[in-house]
Amino acid sequence: MNLCYRHPDRPAYVQCQRCSRPVCPECQVQAPVGVHCPECVEEARRRRPAQRTQFGTPVGSGRPTVTYTVIALCVVMYLLQLASPRLGLGLDVTGALAYAPAYTSDWFPSFEPWRMLTATVLHSPSSAMHILFNMMALLFVGRVIEPAVGAARYVAVLLLSAFGGSVAVLFLTDPLTPTVGASGAVFGLFGALFILSRASGAETGGIVALVAVNMVVSFLVPNISWQGHLGGLVAGALCALVIARAPRGKSRRLWQWAGITGIALVLIALTAVGSTMVAFPV
Ligand SMILES: [Zn+2]
Ligand SMILES: [Zn+2]
Repeated sequence: MNLCYRHPDRPAYVQCQRCSRPVCPECQVQAPVGVHCPECVEEARRRRPAQRTQFGTPVGSGRPTVTYTVIALCVVMYLLQLASPRLGLGLDVTGALAYAPAYTSDWFPSFEPWRMLTATVLHSPSSAMHILFNMMALLFVGRVIEPAVGAARYVAVLLLSAFGGSVAVLFLTDPLTPTVGASGAVFGLFGALFILSRASGAETGGIVALVAVNMVVSFLVPNISWQGHLGGLVAGALCALVIARAPRGKSRRLWQWAGITGIALVLIALTAVGSTMVAFPV
């Protein structure tokens, strides 16, 4: 009588179709024909090429971890914004991290360019609608885009959309008016969703309507930064364009990251140019 090669004390009535070793009932893995042993199954799994999405990223768990993390970060920062003036420690989170063009200009005493990014995880402390809308949009769109392009490229799209939003604020907004909000990143995701949907031949009418409605709202409602929305939209769409259009093949990732780096450098250059153009308010 045969004994299982993994459990020498158990009888084996069948053998692995690949390696012919006897396996006990517990060690049998049902195959299309006959059974396989656990080692052959593992071996086959390793040899199979990793499944990739249309945009060249390995198919992962599908859980949008980055999206959840960004939402958690924004909520924590929002609570800090609400709490900091009440703590009486002289700490003002909104004042310390919000962005206004003056912070990247020659004549302003404090040169604090990081505010171009830190402002994008803050929200208007006077209106819960601002953060509520942005987080809902981030959740709905991020859930689609993050698994499609992979976490790393998704982070790049978010960061450059946020940065692009602040660059537009630098060129188009009053130098001393502070801006906060993840709207630039959210509009970047809208732009990216449009480009990626087109690239995969999906229906884009709904996205165009969504962006159009939101764009009109941002022009009409006072205290909403349409400049940031516009900049984010363009930057996010450009990132998605290089991700979707990079030549297929072995160096696809390289092209995608080269394109993303190029967009980042253009935004840095625009910031340098814009910072010399901010007019001193009289
Ligand atoms: Zn086997
Ligand atoms: Zn066994």
